[in-house]
Amino acid sequence: MDYFPIFLAVAGRRIILSGGGDAAIAKLRLLFKTTAHITVFAKDPLPEILHWEKSGKLASVARKLETGDALCAALFYAANEDAQEDRRVAKLAHEAGALVNIVDNLQDSQFITPAIVDRDPVTVAIGTEGAAPVLARALKADLEHRLPAQIGVLARIAKSFRKNVNALPMGRARRSFWSEFYFNTGPRALDESGEAGIDSALSNLLATHLKKATPTGHVIFVGAGPGDPELLTLKACKALDRADVVLYDRLVGDPILELARREALLIDVGKTGFGASTPQQEINALLLKHSQNGQIVVRLKGGDATIFGRLDEEIDACEAAEIDWSIVPGITAASAAVAAIGQSLTRRQRNASVKFLTGHDMHGFHEQEWQALAQPNTVAAIYMGKKSARFIQGRLLMHGADPKTPISIVEYASRPHQRIIEACLDNLAETLRAQSVSGPALTLFGLPARKAALQIENHHAKVSA
Ligand code: SAH
Repeated sequence: MDYFPIFLAVAGRRIILSGGGDAAIAKLRLLFKTTAHITVFAKDPLPEILHWEKSGKLASVARKLETGDALCAALFYAANEDAQEDRRVAKLAHEAGALVNIVDNLQDSQFITPAIVDRDPVTVAIGTEGAAPVLARALKADLEHRLPAQIGVLARIAKSFRKNVNALPMGRARRSFWSEFYFNTGPRALDESGEAGIDSALSNLLATHLKKATPTGHVIFVGAGPGDPELLTLKACKALDRADVVLYDRLVGDPILELARREALLIDVGKTGFGASTPQQEINALLLKHSQNGQIVVRLKGGDATIFGRLDEEIDACEAAEIDWSIVPGITAASAAVAAIGQSLTRRQRNASVKFLTGHDMHGFHEQEWQALAQPNTVAAIYMGKKSARFIQGRLLMHGADPKTPISIVEYASRPHQRIIEACLDNLAETLRAQSVSGPALTLFGLPARKAALQIENHHAKVSA
């Protein structure tokens, strides 16, 4: 972000604009939304400006801006539609200490005026740092449709009621009061009795909420998917939006954590390859500590929480402490990996079953039913299969598997650096090493990548290179 969005207090302060033509008029229309004192400097302004002066919306000075005219101004707009004059007045305003914007000259401006969706006091400001004004306008149009006009009225009245709501405990109790007001009670009261009905609706709602018992905690085990935030389920998004606390694993990236409620406490309990960087006991203790406080705890696990995620140990801890819990399923890495290579996990007359294996666990490499896995047409999705590649390779070959069995390795499935690597059983470990696979990788045993998938992958790799 080269521009940091803020809301500037301008009530009662001066905003100065130099210029009296069409560009000035367009800016003034926007500035009338504020409660600032607006002064226009223009030798020969358009009649509209004089008309606005008569109706008290602005003060107009019928000459060019001179030294000292912009003193104590919060903002200054140069809108002369004359580059030389804009430069001159911008310099004066800058010397007078005002923040300066030159209309249609991003380069020499100190701030940008965003596209605004106005539901005062609710304001949405949209900016693209000058990169895509068309996009900003499209977003504005979209939001104008979506945001009901009444949210401004509700927010204005609610603002004066806020201190009464301090009677409710901080956090969830207050949030649930306000969401019920904004999305249910408030709009209904406005429909039924207009603005006059809102005060009593607020008071009644508060009385109801004060009677409610203190909220109980809850743990939601949420599958965060393989990495692409668009592969989160709607339920996962909702859970993140409600969370007071989020405990997340190493596999969960920033784009997904961004979706958590702003005020949520985010705790990294990242586990790496062999073993855990935060011991399981400690994770369990954190789950209990926060949910026993009456908070909603989201336990965010990569992929699907029920696959190689030590979920049961955490559920057992909740059960033992009598904490409510629920599971939101997610898209597992194997699903993202087969999607990347353009294959099905199962296929008529090829494989009627598929195995999900882990290459190792905390205790080391895992023995499997090698005999069965070595049969022709077997398909297996191998998690955590990098370090154990040579072990798996050796066991399968020893049990008679075809050395030419196709294998696809998908690193960073669904993420921007996704990579598909082709191998076969007799070169699996060498290929992994030669290709320096260092990210999370899923080994799909028995499945080659389709040509089309590889072509797309190569194209993406070229584009991002
Ligand atoms: N619960 C997770 C798996 C956790 S075990 C799930 O359902 O996907 C961790 C292993 O999952 C990693 O070692 C890797 O083998 C695999 N994995 C997770 N995310 C991945 C991704 N985006 N791409 C490839 N493999 C991934």
